[in-house]
Amino acid sequence: MISHLSRNRRDRPTVIFYWGGHECINHRGQAVNRTNSCLHSSDEEMSGQKTKIRKMNIAEKLRNTKETLFSFELLPPLKGDHIEAIYSTIDPLMDFRPSYINVTYHREEVVYKKRSDGLLEERSVRKRPGTVGIVAAIMHKYNIEVVPHLICGGFSKEETENALIDLHFLGVDNILVLRGDPDKSIRMFKADPDGHENAIGLLQQVMELNKGIYLDDDIVNNSETHFSVGVAGYPEKHPEAPNFDSDIRYLKEKVDAGAEYIVTQMFFDNRHYFDFVEKCRSAGINVPIVPGLKPVSVKNHLNILPKTFGVELPETLSKEMEKCADNSAVRQLGVEWTTGQAIELKRAGVPSIHLYTMGKADNIREIVNKVF
Ligand SMILES: Cc1cc2nc3c(=O)[nH]c(=O)nc-3n(C[C@H](O)[C@H](O)[C@H](O)COP(=O)(O)OP(=O)(O)OC[C@H]3O[C@@H](n4cnc5c(N)ncnc54)[C@H](O)[C@@H]3O)c2cc1C
Repeated sequence: MISHLSRNRRDRPTVIFYWGGHECINHRGQAVNRTNSCLHSSDEEMSGQKTKIRKMNIAEKLRNTKETLFSFELLPPLKGDHIEAIYSTIDPLMDFRPSYINVTYHREEVVYKKRSDGLLEERSVRKRPGTVGIVAAIMHKYNIEVVPHLICGGFSKEETENALIDLHFLGVDNILVLRGDPDKSIRMFKADPDGHENAIGLLQQVMELNKGIYLDDDIVNNSETHFSVGVAGYPEKHPEAPNFDSDIRYLKEKVDAGAEYIVTQMFFDNRHYFDFVEKCRSAGINVPIVPGLKPVSVKNHLNILPKTFGVELPETLSKEMEKCADNSAVRQLGVEWTTGQAIELKRAGVPSIHLYTMGKADNIREIVNKVF
């Protein structure tokens, strides 16, 4: 059951990396590392001929890696905080050579402010803006692949197209396409009147743009984008899905529409991941499935994580958390638990392990140090 995970890759035609005519991927879809620079982006002289090298996108890396990679996810800082908050999360993790970094996107939220006359006023506030700027800043400072999340919530199709153009101009080729969390005040997801209801609609828009098809058919220069898209998957089922089968069916639709890999929601029992991969494979979903892990770090994760993400904490973990005298004991327990999960997943040959930092680097550093 486990051993087929890393072998189960999409059949793909040979990919040409050099427009100069040098192949870097063989007919089986495996990378052939002819030169060290083959996997990196640069212009270089080869055989006296100027040759442009296209770097591997994330999906290609995941399909071709022989070892388990490591990546992590960051949240933009709360409005008013400095970008240094982001750098102080990244810096301690760079020693472990992450393959890429994800940056989440947060829609606006409805908040109620008390006016001077005592009445409440409804306001729409984006508490964590800055995803695109952060992506550019990280790429510039660390020269690393960065994957912005793009969501449906709060975006019209036109705004989505403009955001994609911004990312394309910045040289961002990898995105994670999501529906987005519901507005906390409503709890039900509500799309923009001219936006997408589900991730698949957004994904289809990205795929159209990759073919040079813009919303306005009067556009004259239909330049194509080159986005490689990942999507979310839920080893314990998406909380709103009526059943697992329908959730997997919609996931397959996303893959059939062009998603090249899946990143999972956090889980605390690897059995959920292995079963999920098996379900996906039986349904004909053959793209890499990257497990997402989050270490518990505070006592109230006991209630918040199941409630917010619809995930289960195994009884052994929840009992140990209850016994913890304080949050520093929970943090230590979280490090040990996630390390155990990551070691087992790595042994099973998963393409990558994706760690949710939630703005904390110290516990993630301890885990990565033990696993990689
Ligand atoms: C790795 C990861 C990263 C995330 N990053 C962010 C982020 O940056 N910002 C953010 O706001 N949220 C983020 N989320 C949370 C995510 O937005 C929510 O879980 C959201 O509720 C669902 O997103 P989705 O892309 O999976 O949605 P979808 O694929 O659209 O699925 C949502 C629900 O609708 C169902 N469904 C799908 N397609 C259809 C269809 N055609 N018809 C009917 N039903 C359908 C599915 O079964 C599921 O129940 C992330 C989640 C994960 C796992």
